[in-house]
Amino acid sequence: MRELITHIQQEGVVVNDDVLKVNSFLNHQIDPQLMQKIGAAFHAEFANHPITKILTIEASGIAPALMTGLAFKAPVVFARKSKSATLTDGNYAASVVSYTKHTTNQVIVDRQFLTADDHVLIIDDFLANGAAVHGLIDICNQAHCHLDGIGIVIEKAFQPGGKALRAEGYPLKSLVRIKSLANHHVTFMED
Ligand code: 5GP
Repeated sequence: MRELITHIQQEGVVVNDDVLKVNSFLNHQIDPQLMQKIGAAFHAEFANHPITKILTIEASGIAPALMTGLAFKAPVVFARKSKSATLTDGNYAASVVSYTKHTTNQVIVDRQFLTADDHVLIIDDFLANGAAVHGLIDICNQAHCHLDGIGIVIEKAFQPGGKALRAEGYPLKSLVRIKSLANHHVTFMED
């Protein structure tokens, strides 16, 4: 997605060889017009699927997921980070290691918002090791819903998550794939 690449080139901050900050349009301040185009791009990619739910994880997945839900006219469910490790009967739950905070969170989704009849598109902002997406897949499996696809705004292709998910056979679409963040420079796969 050319416009997203331009935003990353102009506004992205390479924190170190592993982490990219895009706080000016995605992770702190949000650019609604760009999010709308991101939603439209995911819709174009998965338009032939009968998507009934968009599933993401709080907080940074919500903006692109919401605009994707708008494009599909489908509700958006976000997995909530739960302080309590005790599972309540009404929730699906999964453990997710946070890439940026190095902590393990229990994430939960209320059972009433995801059922076996649902066709789900998972959306998230970044893909690194794949822990967040695997947690959401775990929740989909618990709900016995149909996972139609996974949409990622920015995949760091030099980290193992994308390769693992493709090897596992999941339909994965990343709008931008980053080859390297070395030398404080963003190199894209397309370069
Ligand atoms: P994973 O679970 O795939 O290891 O990491 C993905 C999650 O960690 C995303 O939900 C995202 O919030 C966060 N994340 C991973 N890498 C980055 C990064 O380089 N920049 C930002 N802003 N978030 C990241």
